[in-house]
Amino acid sequence: MKGDIRNKVLVIEDDPGISNFLKATLSAAGYVPILASQGNIALSIISSQCPDCILLDLGLPDMDGMEIIDRIRTWTQTPVVVISARSTEEDKANTLDRGADDYITKPFGAIELLARIRTAIRHTLTMAENSQVGITGTYQVDDLVIDYRKMRVYLKGEDVHLTPNEFRIVALLGKHAGRVMTYKAMLRELWGPSASMDNKILRVHMASIRRKIEQDPAEPRYIITEVGVGYRLRDDDST
Ligand code: CA
Repeated sequence: MKGDIRNKVLVIEDDPGISNFLKATLSAAGYVPILASQGNIALSIISSQCPDCILLDLGLPDMDGMEIIDRIRTWTQTPVVVISARSTEEDKANTLDRGADDYITKPFGAIELLARIRTAIRHTLTMAENSQVGITGTYQVDDLVIDYRKMRVYLKGEDVHLTPNEFRIVALLGKHAGRVMTYKAMLRELWGPSASMDNKILRVHMASIRRKIEQDPAEPRYIITEVGVGYRLRDDDST
């Protein structure tokens, strides 16, 4: 990549070690990194420089990272990937429900990080709808094909015979492939805003879906559980 088409990635992180690692990783991958170690500086950079993606550490010296999400979501859909510490699954789900696009848990590697950024930017460019689905009416990853017109899912060319609700779950994850969907977002999307926010119904359906599409349901390859947060359907970039 060269010249003006390089994507700008704003890194909002106060730990210099992580910040430098991110800067080096992003530069090596062809992005233009912009660094901010405080929330207020970050907010002014977002409005003046319009980054293509934002990497956000939630624990900043001058404000809670959540506040940054709340403030920028009033005027921009720039994708935000939250950099989170371990042991805060509820926080992770909250950040997604409040408008973050994805998260990555410390410690993380360069490959995983770059995959998350690519997916986040691509989803923004295609207005949140999976572009592959928009163009072909299908979503495919490895041997799994979701056919949105026929409302069927195929594994190695064979119809796996999902129930209508199972299909809706897989279809929804396919439209957001590569990104985690929170339980709350899924329940709202599938059964409406007044749906019960009990995850049990999702878990029951998911167990049945996995028996049909996964070779080893205990070690799923296609639909990954993000413990305490939600589910992620793999895309070619997912790690
Ligand atoms: Ca921090």
